[in-house]
Amino acid sequence: MNKITPQPGIMDITLYQGGAAHVNGVENVVKLSSNENPLGPCDKAIEAFRRAAYDLHRYPSSDHAPLRAAIGAVLGLDPERIICGAGSDEIIAFLCQAYAGPDTEVVHTEHGFGMYRINALAAGATPVEVAERERVTDVDALLAACTEKTRLVFMANPNNPTGTMIGAAEVARLAAGLPEQALLVLDGAYAEYVEGYDGGAALVDARDNVIMTRTFSKIYGLGGLRVGWGYGPQHVLDVLNRVRGPFNVSQAALNAAEAAIRDTAYVDHCRTENARWRGWMADALAEIGVPSDVSCTNFVLARFASADEAEACNEHLKSQGLLVRPVSSYNLPNCLRITVGDESSCRRVVHAVRQFK
Ligand code: PMP
Repeated sequence: MNKITPQPGIMDITLYQGGAAHVNGVENVVKLSSNENPLGPCDKAIEAFRRAAYDLHRYPSSDHAPLRAAIGAVLGLDPERIICGAGSDEIIAFLCQAYAGPDTEVVHTEHGFGMYRINALAAGATPVEVAERERVTDVDALLAACTEKTRLVFMANPNNPTGTMIGAAEVARLAAGLPEQALLVLDGAYAEYVEGYDGGAALVDARDNVIMTRTFSKIYGLGGLRVGWGYGPQHVLDVLNRVRGPFNVSQAALNAAEAAIRDTAYVDHCRTENARWRGWMADALAEIGVPSDVSCTNFVLARFASADEAEACNEHLKSQGLLVRPVSSYNLPNCLRITVGDESSCRRVVHAVRQFK
């Protein structure tokens, strides 16, 4: 019998199954399963990425100063309190490594992003799932779930995979009501899709128990490069920087992200296009009997009459070369999460769902 065993909790983690970008025997496949920007990154980000090719023998910047300065300048944040990671996934991992552990609890919403639970389990902590109210984050339920063991409370706003969002006053009420040893993690992966929204930055500045995480994988179109960041109180940054490896983000990724955040006109363009086709697709689906909640993101959570119907529709979409995301692992078996693609992808989705119906 093998005596080499992982720590308790690890085998409770489900292996990631998604990500395929092809269907056997089907042409013109379009991937609408990972909430990527169909327009890709801006040209300046691609140029900046290419420049890194001349220095591949060098380790990347270890303090990420130019990228932190650019984020700070564009968004009006203190660069000293920004940390960059290999995707916001890595910031979530740092938080769990540094703050969670055996005999602690990590609270997250019922339909919350899967990496919260995975990183909590990997740190030996107990994940605590909190029910939502009609697919909307329930602040009272989150507060009620906190105990003296709670170290981290994760909530995405807007949320994935529901697409819904709660207001700033509600988030502030959550932060103010947490037990004193708990840190609120406001995941703003989709924040840029909400015009004028700061992702919770003002709340971070106002308190010492809130950190915001952000990503370059969504509106900036750089999912393939893996860059994300966090903005938090100084005492949290002092902790997270101790668990961060010195060369955790590649130079190509740092270059591209810096160019991407500076190109605010391109971000505005992507937000406008997304809103246009999101609205069109959601309305057209509703007309054929597939409703969804108002989405504040770059995807629509389409609701079917039953889990069987959602599964059958997923198979039909797949046969038409349309890859969307079943979300039964998020306890939403009657839903399909559909990324807002470009005009032609949105039209293909609606056409295929109409055929199916
Ligand atoms: N948070 C949420 C809510 C997400 O949906 C995602 C990506 N799907 C992430 C974090 C992680 O993004 P990344 O690691 O690419 O920055």
